[in-house]
Amino acid sequence: MAFELLDLPYDYKALEPHIDERTMRIHHDKHHAGYVNKLNAVLEGHPELAGRSIEDLLRGIDEVPAEMRQAVINNGGGHANHSLFWEIMSGDGESEPEGELAEAIKKEFSSFEKFKEVFSEKAGSVFGSGWVFLTIADGKLECKRQSFQNSPYMNGKTPILGLDVWEHAYYLKYQNERAKYIEAFWNIVNWGKVGEKFKDASSD
Ligand code: MN
Repeated sequence: MAFELLDLPYDYKALEPHIDERTMRIHHDKHHAGYVNKLNAVLEGHPELAGRSIEDLLRGIDEVPAEMRQAVINNGGGHANHSLFWEIMSGDGESEPEGELAEAIKKEFSSFEKFKEVFSEKAGSVFGSGWVFLTIADGKLECKRQSFQNSPYMNGKTPILGLDVWEHAYYLKYQNERAKYIEAFWNIVNWGKVGEKFKDASSD
C-alpha cells in the first residue's frame, strides 16, 4: 500500500489574498507530491513500513532501517507536515480557538494574544528551512521549531497546528518578508479543525 496525496480540502484560491493561488498550486501539486512520491519510492519492497499510517511510521522512526531512515524523515516528515498544514487552514475559519482548546492555550500561554506572539516569534526565528508547530504531549501544549521536514511525531509529540516557513511557502508573494506571511497566516487558521485535533490528541 502506498502513501497518497490527498486533494486540498478547498480550492487553490480559497486562501487568497493571504496565500496566493499560484503558491498553493506549486506547493501542493509539486512540493508535497514530490515528498509523497519519494517516500513511496524509498519504501518500495518494505510493505511492513509502507502499510503503516504516516504518524506511526514517524513515531517509530527508530525501527526504520538506518540506510533508509533519513529519506523517511525528509519525505515522510514532508508528507505529514504538509497534510497537517492544508487541513488547519481555511478561507472561512473561526478567528479564535474555542472551548477546551481556548482554555488550554490560556492556561499554557496566559492568553491567545500571547500564544500568537510566541508562535510568531518562533516562526520568524527558524534559521533556514523549517516549521513551527503547536504540539501536545501528555496534555501539555508547546510551541516548537523544527528544521527541514523533521516531524514532532519523532519526538513523541502530536502537532495540532503548523506553519511552513520554507521559502517555497511564501516567496512568490512575500519574497524576503517572512514576517508579513506569518502575520497573514492568522487570518486563515481553521481553529475548528485545530480544536478537533486537540481533542483527539488529548484522548489518546
Ligand atoms: Mn512546504
